[in-house]
Amino acid sequence: MTTITRKIQMVDLAGQYNKIKTEIDNAIASVIHSTAFINGPEVKAFQAELEKYLGVKHVIPCANGTDALQIAMMALGLKPGDEVITANFTFVATAEVIGLLGLTPVLVDVYPGTYTLNIDAVKKAITPKTKAIVPVHLFGQCAEMEELMKLAKEHNLYVIEDNAQAIGADYKYSNGTFTKAGTLGHFGTTSFFPSKNLGGYGDGGAFFTNDDALAKKARSITNHGSTVQYYHDDIGVNSRLDSIQAAILRVKLRYLDEYCAARQKAAAFYDKAFANHPKIKTPERSKQSTHVFHQYTLVFNNVDRNKLREHLTTKGIPAMIYYPVPLHLQKAYRDPRYKEGDFPVTEALCASVLSLPIHTELDDETQKFITDSVLEFVK
Ligand SMILES: *Cc1c(COP(=O)(O)O)cnc(C)c1O
Repeated sequence: MTTITRKIQMVDLAGQYNKIKTEIDNAIASVIHSTAFINGPEVKAFQAELEKYLGVKHVIPCANGTDALQIAMMALGLKPGDEVITANFTFVATAEVIGLLGLTPVLVDVYPGTYTLNIDAVKKAITPKTKAIVPVHLFGQCAEMEELMKLAKEHNLYVIEDNAQAIGADYKYSNGTFTKAGTLGHFGTTSFFPSKNLGGYGDGGAFFTNDDALAKKARSITNHGSTVQYYHDDIGVNSRLDSIQAAILRVKLRYLDEYCAARQKAAAFYDKAFANHPKIKTPERSKQSTHVFHQYTLVFNNVDRNKLREHLTTKGIPAMIYYPVPLHLQKAYRDPRYKEGDFPVTEALCASVLSLPIHTELDDETQKFITDSVLEFVK
């Protein structure tokens, strides 16, 4: 087995930066020289460029992906007591903002193959109090949006796509046409956290809509409920994307498709190495979406996943558990409506998943070392 001299990371942000160093450094310097730190021209330019890339009418930049979800829910006028259906298997932010706004999170299970919202479970969870559904495009591919939008229309519900992990993915309609992930629902949200597929060098977020009235409302809420300075029509928040982050993101947006392709290539390498292994399940691809591999997540059967992780750590290979605890078993989200065993797929996933390093700078030699090390443990 080969040895690797360079430190292996889940995400290699330094390697990625080195390739575009001059462009990034110039972008940052130009904002500093302009001193337009807040809502400067870079923010407006990034907004317009992301609108064009996504093919969506309105992009509203904000401070982070969690705020994007919260402001979208505020703009939809959701009120305390309203029920919002979302996936149990997700990063906590999705449910957190539902709770923060006094809305009732209604958790549903996911599909065992794609880890996205189970449509039948959503159907069963709809009550007269349901107002919205929040599908999560987990690990980089879309939930079954066409079915969800149809269901939402039948029941007069809003749909907010949590697209923090799938920016750049393409959703494929059943008629064969494509649209970008995050642009099908009433709102789509994303995060520019550094390790996300389109990551800044600090916090950042945005949300999108094709609806003019919703965009206007959301823009106002993002800016203290104000469209005319010092006049406040709504109780809003202060949530802005920094000009420096916008300038960095403008550079990185130009590389997003290349970054997605690099992640897909790395995923294909892993797929091949673990294909048909009786104890390892490689990530299933949705028929309705491309996969941009924010994470490459394996499911291990009859393997001590935690011991495997330790084995990898001793070899200098990081591996992460996304996510170790289902929402309904988290202290903050315990609810008498739910008990252990209620979400068999999510619970099984939390006990058996492990995500391997995936980023834009992986080479075959490093990946071979990683896959050999996994297979050395998982006989
Ligand atoms: C990262 C992430 C968020 C939150 O984004 P922040 O910018 O960290 O607030 C929300 N939902 C999902 C699924 C995420 O992965």
